[in-house]
Amino acid sequence: MAKRFAILGDIHANIDALVTVLEDAQAQGVTDYLCTGDVVGYGACPHECMEIIREIGCPVVKGNHDHYVSSVQNLSDFNPNAAAVVEWTRGQLTEDELAWLHDLPYQVVTMGMTIVHSTNDRPETFGYVFDNLQAEANFINQKTPLSFHGHTHCPMIYEQSMNGVFRIDPQDMKLPPGRKYFINVGSVGQPRDGDPRAAYVIYDVATRTVTFRRLDYDIASAQARIRYAGLPERLAERLQYGQ
Ligand code: ZN
Repeated sequence: MAKRFAILGDIHANIDALVTVLEDAQAQGVTDYLCTGDVVGYGACPHECMEIIREIGCPVVKGNHDHYVSSVQNLSDFNPNAAAVVEWTRGQLTEDELAWLHDLPYQVVTMGMTIVHSTNDRPETFGYVFDNLQAEANFINQKTPLSFHGHTHCPMIYEQSMNGVFRIDPQDMKLPPGRKYFINVGSVGQPRDGDPRAAYVIYDVATRTVTFRRLDYDIASAQARIRYAGLPERLAERLQYGQ
C-alpha cells in the first residue's frame, strides 16, 4: 500500500487540537505518522498528549520544550510565562515520561526524509528558520531531498534548486524531482501565523504531493483547560488569535 504520511508537531499539550488533527488524518487515509516535536509546553494536557503520541508509536524528534521540561535546565533566561509552564509541566509528568522526552533524538531519517524540530543546521541548538539565509544553512546540512520541521509554528516551504533557495507560501504541491525541500508543517496546538486553526501536513509518497491541512477545533475548550490549570492567561488568549 502506498504510504501517506501525516507530519505533525508543536502539539504543545493541546489535546483538543491533537484529537481533531488525528481524526482528520484518519479520514484523509493517512497510513503513517511522523512527529516534529514539542509534544509538551504551553498547554494544559502534556500527559494526555504524550500518551497518544507514544501509543501511535511513530518517530518523534526532540523539540526545545521537550528538552527544557526533561533536562535540569536553569530557567532564569526564560520569559516568566515560559518558565512557569516548564515548571508546571515537569510536575504533571511521570519519571518514565520525562525519561522518554529526554531520550528523544534530534533528527530521524526515514524513507529519504529527515524529520527535525528546528533546522538540520546544528539541530541541538534549536535555531529558527524564517528567511532564505537560515534556510541555506539548513540545506547545507540536509542530507535527504525532503525534510520536515516545525519550531516557528508558521507553515512554510523552502526550496533549493540550481537557481538558489526560495521561500514558497504554504500550498498544496507536487514536489518536482532534482530539488531539495525543507517544509515547515506549522503547529497543531499553538499556530502563530495569524490563523488559529490547527495545522499539519500530509505527504503522499507515490504522488510526491504535500497537502497543508488547517482545521477548526474547540479552542474554547483548550482555553478553559489552561485557565483551570492556573497557567498564564496569555497562553489561553493567544490560541484564539493564532499568535
Ligand atoms: Zn514549539
